[in-house]
Amino acid sequence: MTEPFEPPNAFRSPRFAQLSTFMRLPYARYPAGLDVAILGIPFDGGVSFRSGARFGPKEIRSNSLLIRPYNPVLRTLPFSRLRVADCGDVDTNPMDILDTYRRVEEAVGRILAAGAVPACVGGDHSLSLPILRAVAGAHGRVALVHFDSHQDMWEEYFGNRYFHGTPFRRALEEGLYDPRATVQVGIRGPVYSDRDFAFGAEHGVTVVRAEEVHRHGEESVRPHLERLRGRKVYVSFDIDSVDPAFAPGTGTPEVGGLTSAQALELVRMLAGLEIVGFDIVEVSPPYDQSGITAMLAANVLFELIAVISLSRPAGS
Ligand code: MN
Ligand code: MN
Repeated sequence: MTEPFEPPNAFRSPRFAQLSTFMRLPYARYPAGLDVAILGIPFDGGVSFRSGARFGPKEIRSNSLLIRPYNPVLRTLPFSRLRVADCGDVDTNPMDILDTYRRVEEAVGRILAAGAVPACVGGDHSLSLPILRAVAGAHGRVALVHFDSHQDMWEEYFGNRYFHGTPFRRALEEGLYDPRATVQVGIRGPVYSDRDFAFGAEHGVTVVRAEEVHRHGEESVRPHLERLRGRKVYVSFDIDSVDPAFAPGTGTPEVGGLTSAQALELVRMLAGLEIVGFDIVEVSPPYDQSGITAMLAANVLFELIAVISLSRPAGS
């Protein structure tokens, strides 16, 4: 008998029992045979303001226990369509960001080599660069949907080219994603000058500011996402795309953001796209209140897995 890749029956095993893997899915040391491999990346050596995201994976796991398996909005029971497991954490190097990058790229590369979709849970946003290196290595240059209040396309900070404010500039320079097939959603907040937006604009990146979502509604984002159909898409979800009223537990909060309901709607809008990998980053539990930020991140993770399941036949 094969091991069932689904959470234990909550009528036999209460939700607060057993070790806290994501949604109490089975732990799999190796990704062979999986469709989606959840990978924790506990690292916050790339932050510029409030730290603590290294504790994100643990808190997101423990705040995922109440998520029930059927998604009534997308009408899918993802674990009947996909073999999903929690592959534990990357052993990061808390003293060295570049060594951490090597470790992350290798771990994500192993998941991709096994034919699974890497579902990465950070950790700070600097980690998207080594993840994208691995994803582009397996799939070629990808399309990108990036939820964030920041573009993360700055050049450097205190002479460092690698931190959580630069991953999408470095990844663009390295040719890992196609800027003309890139949508950034939720961008907002004060910057240093209008020049801060020049790099993305010059490369053809589409930006949907948070103010536009508030003014015109979530549906106004759909046409931009529709353009990515037929492409292999990477999704990067910075929890600070959501307003600090809903997601206070993060390193660089910006007011005026998406509501948690808007964020879920926008993630569901990805249905129909071929998602080849994703990350959820920047949850900082020390700044959280009653786990609300980690709980939202856990639910975004579940929604993304549900979206991926729609592209697979039921009962396979
Ligand atoms: Mn970010
Ligand atoms: Mn951000």
